[in-house]
Amino acid sequence: APQMTHTAPLDLRSRAADAVRACGADIPSGDDVPALSPVDGTVLHTLRASSPEDVAAAIECAQQAFSQWRVVPAPVRGALVRRLGELLTEHKDDLAALVTIEAGKIPSEALGEVQEMIDVCEFAVGLSRQLYGRTMPSERPGHRLMETWHPLGVVGVISAFNFPVAVWAWNAAIAFVCGDTVVWKPSELTPLTALACDALVRRAAAESGAPDGLHAVLIGSGSVGGQLVDDPRVALVSATGSVRMGREVGPRVAARFGRCLLELGGNNAAVVTPSADLDLAVRGIVFAAAGTAGQRCTTLRRLIVHSSIVDTLVERVADAYRQLRVGDPFEDGVLVGPLIRERSWQAMSAALDRARTAGGTVVCGGDRMDRDGVYATPALVRMPSQSEVVREETFAPILYVLSYDTLDEAIALHNNVPQGLASAIFTLDQREAERFLAADGSDCGIANVNIGTSGAEIGGAFGGEKETGGGRESGSDSWKAYMRRATNTVNYSTELPLAQGVRFGR
Ligand code: NAD
Repeated sequence: APQMTHTAPLDLRSRAADAVRACGADIPSGDDVPALSPVDGTVLHTLRASSPEDVAAAIECAQQAFSQWRVVPAPVRGALVRRLGELLTEHKDDLAALVTIEAGKIPSEALGEVQEMIDVCEFAVGLSRQLYGRTMPSERPGHRLMETWHPLGVVGVISAFNFPVAVWAWNAAIAFVCGDTVVWKPSELTPLTALACDALVRRAAAESGAPDGLHAVLIGSGSVGGQLVDDPRVALVSATGSVRMGREVGPRVAARFGRCLLELGGNNAAVVTPSADLDLAVRGIVFAAAGTAGQRCTTLRRLIVHSSIVDTLVERVADAYRQLRVGDPFEDGVLVGPLIRERSWQAMSAALDRARTAGGTVVCGGDRMDRDGVYATPALVRMPSQSEVVREETFAPILYVLSYDTLDEAIALHNNVPQGLASAIFTLDQREAERFLAADGSDCGIANVNIGTSGAEIGGAFGGEKETGGGRESGSDSWKAYMRRATNTVNYSTELPLAQGVRFGR
């Protein structure tokens, strides 16, 4: 067997500390929140959780900073985000190392995630000159009807472990140019990465003359996030995570008439039709299903394959799966890193048991590796039908394969899950492709052709329907969620005509 090569000595604790320090962050030591590396289970540091007083003070600061920041012209606000993008570029390696150490992503994906932060900063800088409102024709003479977009307030960002930096950046970069301030509650599983980002924002703010208190990070679990959820000073709660979390957060924000942007779980599928380019499909499927160890919200979890090609495709995907190197993400050639925690493996093996009970066959993978950290080989499972376990999101690398005979049947199977995030069709038939993208096709927020379900670009709006929560972040006109719209009617005539021809008095 070829010798395994370590790209670096694996003293994860000192590597993490160096990277955090290089970004200029202090780590609040304590004994509440252990920062653990899934790479080998090392405890990197134990942090102090933010107290209720800390949370209240951070919100108060952000509220005060907002009153200054909202009157800074948007293109000037862009300067902060431009500087942030430069600092992220400068510290790309430090941040990527932290993402690998805390979230377990292979370095190429970790660097890609940092690149996504840089990209969204660039997008936001351009946006700072394009926060356009419309002018509508007024029905009354001598009147102007228009809309203006104003800053919204404090944005509470709650993020998940699996995109420890990109999702924050999607929110923060856009929120800043929109004139909002940000209080961030990152996942308790990735606190060091968050502290490093926070330090870079503070530096960018100081260097670009933005007010203090424009950004804060809170350390702790869901209960710390809960304080953001319930505080009426937080105008928008942008929460990314499980459907379970969204079910708690959504109604509580709604109860105080706050705004909520939810980015929740997915159960993403690809339809593979008889005309598909199978070489391309196999590559797309393997990256989407096994990449990031199945821990992306957009991970491919269901494959819906025409019955004429299902045996061939399963064989080819299984071949590719058997060649995937699973292991320490810092090792060259490894494509599948660890699961985040022990409970991910418990969920994976429980799901595989349920799949077998429902008549499924595990074609390959699904084994736990005997080493420190939680490592599992990606599982490929043929299912006789879309049973309950297939309709749930198990946040681990399990790809269920179903077969179909007509495209209508494939689309029905595709949409018959509670989630609605990402979807794909592999086909060279234009009718099939267009049907999949049409109103009666995929019901997801993301629908692709001849590309897997994961790996979106920042230029599009990201998010999904149904239990995925309906929120949209990142590109396109997602910025509108971070601003409030005022409709303005200006009368420049000497008359006072009423709308709809209403007469009142003379
Ligand atoms: P999680 O729901 O366990 O935690 C997400 C965040 O919510 C964490 O910061 C957590 O502390 C916080 N939280 C939990 N309960 C809370 C509460 N009651 N009030 C306030 N905050 C609370 O999710 P996870 O395990 O970190 O991430 C995996 C999940 O996230 C998967 O379901 C995945 O699909 C989803 N996800 C979705 C997207 C998307 O954009 N749609 C992106 C990434 C991850």
